[in-house]
Amino acid sequence: MEFLPIENSRKSVFIIVPHPDDLEILAGHAVNYFLDLGYQIYEILFSFGEYGVVNQLRKSDQVDRIKGLNLRKIRKKENFNAKQAYGHFSDGTARVITIPMTYIDGHVPFNQKSVRRIQELIKKIKPSVIISPDPLYSIDWHHDHMNTGRTAYYAVKKIEPKFFPQQFLLFQTFKPNYRLPINSIFYATLKKAHQAHRSQLSPLGIKLMLGFHRYLVSPFRAKKQLFRKVELEDFNQYDRKYNKLQSLKDKIMYYMLNFTHSVESTYIPSPTELGLDISYL
Ligand SMILES: [Zn+2]
Repeated sequence: MEFLPIENSRKSVFIIVPHPDDLEILAGHAVNYFLDLGYQIYEILFSFGEYGVVNQLRKSDQVDRIKGLNLRKIRKKENFNAKQAYGHFSDGTARVITIPMTYIDGHVPFNQKSVRRIQELIKKIKPSVIISPDPLYSIDWHHDHMNTGRTAYYAVKKIEPKFFPQQFLLFQTFKPNYRLPINSIFYATLKKAHQAHRSQLSPLGIKLMLGFHRYLVSPFRAKKQLFRKVELEDFNQYDRKYNKLQSLKDKIMYYMLNFTHSVESTYIPSPTELGLDISYL
């Protein structure tokens, strides 16, 4: 497997994401921060985005032809290039290594098996930090983002405490309580990484994303929190809050953001019609 880690003696961070460009778009500033500290970053990638946005082809009939295995191939290559942009350690190991879970875009599962697979990776690599989408106070109810977040959340929650990371941070949250002390970004590096996703991001889109990352670390935002930090002892408390959503503000946010869509009507043609194997479920 071209992406698998060879050794894990360094301090490491797991960034758990559903799609190949999510690490850049949603966590670019965090990648920047941990790279600066010399951490090894593992992108735990749930799918290669076989349905994608197919930007340039959206209005044409070619969309369906490129979806599926073709787009997986394109995005796998794009993702590899994006992660190369972050550079290498002196021994030649990439600073950001992708570990693909190889689920299918739009059909990311949340079940015992998906949770167990993440736990096995945590036990093997023992990351100091785990970063994943917030599945509780979420601002993104995309099926894959929710199931990626749920899988990561329950993997950490149910793991033996000795494997608990030093920090467990959730992004895409409407209840942030933690800020990474980021003061600057490697603009050129992030730009190169974003540009690698050429099938998904337009030049204007990239400009906006980079502007956003810059804005996040600007002095004007010095106190702004972006992550929800979860403590081991918080799990029960969070679950109680989640079930009750005690404050009115939380309730409003929850119901406003809670969009769900039917997977069957959104992802056409079906994975089977595109020749994608969904037997892993
Ligand atoms: Zn995504």
